[in-house]
Amino acid sequence: MVETQIVERGIRDERVIEVMKKVPRHLFVPEDIMDDAYDDRALPIGHGQTISQPYIVALMTELLELKGNEKVLEIGTGSGYQAAVLAEIVSEVHTIERIQPLAEEAKKKFEKLGYKNIKVYVKDGTEGLPEEAPFDRIIITAATPDIPEPLQLQLREGGIIVAPVGKRYSQYMLKAEKKGDKLEKHYLIPVAFVPLIGKYGWKEE
Ligand code: SAM
Repeated sequence: MVETQIVERGIRDERVIEVMKKVPRHLFVPEDIMDDAYDDRALPIGHGQTISQPYIVALMTELLELKGNEKVLEIGTGSGYQAAVLAEIVSEVHTIERIQPLAEEAKKKFEKLGYKNIKVYVKDGTEGLPEEAPFDRIIITAATPDIPEPLQLQLREGGIIVAPVGKRYSQYMLKAEKKGDKLEKHYLIPVAFVPLIGKYGWKEE
């Protein structure tokens, strides 16, 4: 998976490559599709949600430009795989999921695998986590019409936010750096994520 899907597509950050080799993706997918865990695609994890394609997880992690001492906020815990990848590199991961059973499943996996630096919250992630702000990095792993204002406020000066931004069913990957009270935005490749549902996201259908 790592050689053909990740390195060949241009991921260069050694730490990201090492972590993608280390984290057992098959333990983050439902048992009946475990054989497909390393396929080059997103997979269903129940409740109409998905675990992202391995390359997208690697790309978003690389775009965060992690050094190792960061406090990271993730919106959209889902299976917990992206949070585990982040937790292998940084000191603190705070991850928010709105669907309680997914959050509970992810929490169990983190305990089983020994991740002590991940905290899981069940709430509307579009409002962020003001009690833990500021964050050095924020990653949104669901499609958002724009960067929710509370998240922009909870990002520290010079911090980076990575998110799929655009329409409900088609977006561009955005990398933005906070400069003063503004975000300097760079749009990268086209992507398709499940929608971010919440006060500053999309309405539930
Ligand atoms: N990062 C996940 C992983 O590694 O498996 C994949 C995330 S999945 C593509 C998107 C997730 O965002 C879903 O689990 C969905 O329930 C969650 N989500 C959508 N809106 C949300 C919100 N407002 N707050 C928190 N989570 C949200």
